[in-house]
Amino acid sequence: MDHEIAWTHGPTPGGPCAGPEDVLRLLRGAVRAEPGGRLEILVAECGMCGSGEVEFEVAKGECFCVGCCIPLGISDGYAHPDAPYPWRLEPSGVPLPPASPGPGYEPSDFPRCPAGHDVFHVALALAFAADGALRGISVGLRCPEDAALCLYVDNARVVARAA
Ligand SMILES: [Zn+2]
Ligand SMILES: [Zn+2]
Repeated sequence: MDHEIAWTHGPTPGGPCAGPEDVLRLLRGAVRAEPGGRLEILVAECGMCGSGEVEFEVAKGECFCVGCCIPLGISDGYAHPDAPYPWRLEPSGVPLPPASPGPGYEPSDFPRCPAGHDVFHVALALAFAADGALRGISVGLRCPEDAALCLYVDNARVVARAA
């Protein structure tokens, strides 16, 4: 069973704005810094495969590089060098669909765009508090085939946990 992920369509594929810029814009519109804090919004890259338009498969709240299968570390904290590691995510306001399923909820293992594609460009929004601690993370997905966009993780709260 698929969780209700709201997909929107970005600009026409091949159009002037088509590309990871779309998903950065989606996150800029969806995420706010807390007072005194700051936001870092970036296109996800792979430490092994490098930058550029790296594509990811998404499963249970984690994103895996299609080239080398290494996860981004969204669910455990590897996603950012300054972040507490390991961490866990807690829903803030809106539940985090796949990583913290509620009672009886079947997580959407493999989110798909409305056209059925399951490989995405990924962008991250990292929200830092005024003291520099990472407080929240949001993840946007963009289908490289048809430019469909969704907010996959909606401002989950980052909580440090013991290693
Ligand atoms: Zn890779
Ligand atoms: Zn698609």
